[in-house]
Amino acid sequence: MDVARVALPVPIDRLYSYRVPDHFRNWVRPGRRVVVPFGKRKMAGVVIEPGTESDLAKFKARDILDVDVELPPLSDELLQLTRWLASYYMCAWGEALRAALPPGSAQAKSRTRVQTVAMVSFNEAGPEQPPRGARQQAIVEQVRIWHMAEETPVPQRRVLAECGGTAATLRRLAEMGYLFIEQEERDRFLEERGFAQASNRPELHAAQKLAVDAIHEAMTKKRFETFLLHGVTGSGKTEVYLRVLEEARKNGQTAIVLVPEISLTPQTVRRFRSRFGDEVAVLHSRMGDGERYDAWRGIGEGRYPIVIGPRSAILAPLASPSVIIVDEEHESSYKQFDPAPRYHARDVAVMRAHRNNAVCILGSATPSLESLANARENKYTLLEMPERVPVAGTPARLPHIRIVDLRNEPELRQSSNALSKPLLDGISQRAKRGEQTILLLNRRGFAPVMECVTCGWVPECPDCSVSMVYHRPLNHLRCHYCGVTQPPPKVCPTCDGRDLAFQGAGTQRLESELAGRLPDVRVLRMDLDTTSKKGSHHDILERFGNGEADVLLGTQMVAKGLDFEKVTLVGIIRAEAGLQLPDIRAEERAFQLLTQVAGRAGRADLEGEVILQCLDPGHPIIQFALKHDYAGFAQYALATRSVLNYPPTGRLVSILFSGPDDDATRKTAERFRRLVDSQLTDVDRLGPSPAFIHRLKNRYRHQILLKVPQVVPSSRVREGLFAAEKALGSLPASVRLTIDVDPAGLV
Ligand code: ADP
Ligand code: ZN
Ligand code: ZN
Repeated sequence: MDVARVALPVPIDRLYSYRVPDHFRNWVRPGRRVVVPFGKRKMAGVVIEPGTESDLAKFKARDILDVDVELPPLSDELLQLTRWLASYYMCAWGEALRAALPPGSAQAKSRTRVQTVAMVSFNEAGPEQPPRGARQQAIVEQVRIWHMAEETPVPQRRVLAECGGTAATLRRLAEMGYLFIEQEERDRFLEERGFAQASNRPELHAAQKLAVDAIHEAMTKKRFETFLLHGVTGSGKTEVYLRVLEEARKNGQTAIVLVPEISLTPQTVRRFRSRFGDEVAVLHSRMGDGERYDAWRGIGEGRYPIVIGPRSAILAPLASPSVIIVDEEHESSYKQFDPAPRYHARDVAVMRAHRNNAVCILGSATPSLESLANARENKYTLLEMPERVPVAGTPARLPHIRIVDLRNEPELRQSSNALSKPLLDGISQRAKRGEQTILLLNRRGFAPVMECVTCGWVPECPDCSVSMVYHRPLNHLRCHYCGVTQPPPKVCPTCDGRDLAFQGAGTQRLESELAGRLPDVRVLRMDLDTTSKKGSHHDILERFGNGEADVLLGTQMVAKGLDFEKVTLVGIIRAEAGLQLPDIRAEERAFQLLTQVAGRAGRADLEGEVILQCLDPGHPIIQFALKHDYAGFAQYALATRSVLNYPPTGRLVSILFSGPDDDATRKTAERFRRLVDSQLTDVDRLGPSPAFIHRLKNRYRHQILLKVPQVVPSSRVREGLFAAEKALGSLPASVRLTIDVDPAGLV
């Protein structure tokens, strides 16, 4: 290749041509990571295809500066997949490719490369006479001893540490023939491993067998098929995944398993490792750049046929995966927001499976409404496991859920306390019996939501069915979807109460309340503050698992993926809290959270209980959670979504303008809205309205929301938006435009 067309991570959808210097000619080929000059900067990009001399004629021809020869080139499959991804999520190909490179190596300055270490061994055919100096003698003698003990080669570092001397001393000894020094590749990824292999393979129960058989059949026929595995918590979904992976491995096939980062616990990892040992590569966010680089290399070279990881693992360089599993498919952490590509890993998983004639399995106890709708339209095959894994023949029961109506707990309102008597009693009882409690304070973000302390009423937008947010400077309530504003009421419209307040009781305050009221109970707190340090999240879970505390208290972090045998009580401080967020998915998230957290109680042979404290026990979402009624919830939620054309009925595209000047930013957004109006008449257009977080890092944000009916193809929307962008011309100074397709929530 003399000229290479390179995709670069800049938000301009085109390829850039570079001359290939002679010494790189054998190395440059499609899929290679290269470093190139771009303006005054250097940038890492991916070679897409050969170019021609005439490409170069148009510009000042510039040379490729570096080629990463150690990283296997991206396969054609990944090049095509990222191209689709770029077009669906409306970003540049180069931006999509950034997500397919080992995280960290997407920057030009990345020095991450294969690491080698000098290894020393003994030369049996070396000189008879010992070397002259005492130090040199000591070194040769020590290396000989290691040699006899079959410990060589040993790292040079170790030789120097134990015998003294310098690298030059060793080099001299090698030159004289006493020792060998060799450079050995060091696999930083492998060094983090090491585990025992065990195997207990339970007999599948009937529902599992049906699921596994259906999936195996599609695998045998090498037919693309997406399965929605809807199984209550503890129904044995993970065991289904394991069987499917076994089948894939029997046929020499490869697989990707996505799990939310938060549930990449040692427990989860152990279950996969104990079945597949060294074949599994586990990717997680605590890995260093070097380790990731080596992991990526190992996967690309085919050393790990099974890859487990969070969102970004969907673009792992595995050769044509035959099975793609997305556990907890409803999790919003599968959606990336910043930087581009703003992709949803679950949807990319389905597409990647489709392109590989693979099976895709989406598992959840509370499937997303999008996936449920796809199953109802027969795009996905629904597999149900409505009961928990039977213990001694009878299905383990789901925990009993009990409601504590906070309106009947007047003493809580007079103090700043948040824990009701039944909950406190429950906690201390468990602690005395050596059992454990998880306490969830489900407060996400800092949305200043107004509520009636007496009855739990929260102001809602009349048109959008989301809670309104209170803005203190302007003293009004605003809907962050359509922009409607209202003065805050003085009395509650439901109960005429005058006690209108803002929601909030932090985890810290809860911790000190617990310390004051139950001084003998040991508490661990898990929230953003206590988990900001690397590894601390795992530490806390490990300590709780070891029984170092009676109570684990925290935000929604405590809700997912945890599996502790001794937990028999789950307390939810304010069950309706999440319902009040100004987001169309607020109710769905709240239901999922309540269901997930309830599933934490009593998973082993001990029976579980859940105590829900709330002000509004009649709220339909709370009632559905109380009855473990997913079907009821889905029917209720789908009806609302359909009336309002929200997903899954319609698709959303969020268009965000941000800039340092509020007025200029808003005006640009308004101008863009008019251009979109002329382009996309068949799409519902809302806004611009100030974004949920209006000012972020000194930038003002204004949002336009498109509701795209299902009949309008995404390519039309894309073309319309590109045309509008073109007509808008260059943006005013430092105003930025961000397009988010299928946004996860408010920004
Ligand atoms: P889920 O992933 O649906 O929450 P798991 O796969 O974690 O459920 O299963 C719950 C528990 O039941 C686990 O401890 C698992 O080892 C066990 N289990 C799963 N399937 C069976 C089975 N067929 N027989 C016995 N135990 C099982
Ligand atoms: Zn009220
Ligand atoms: Zn509204």
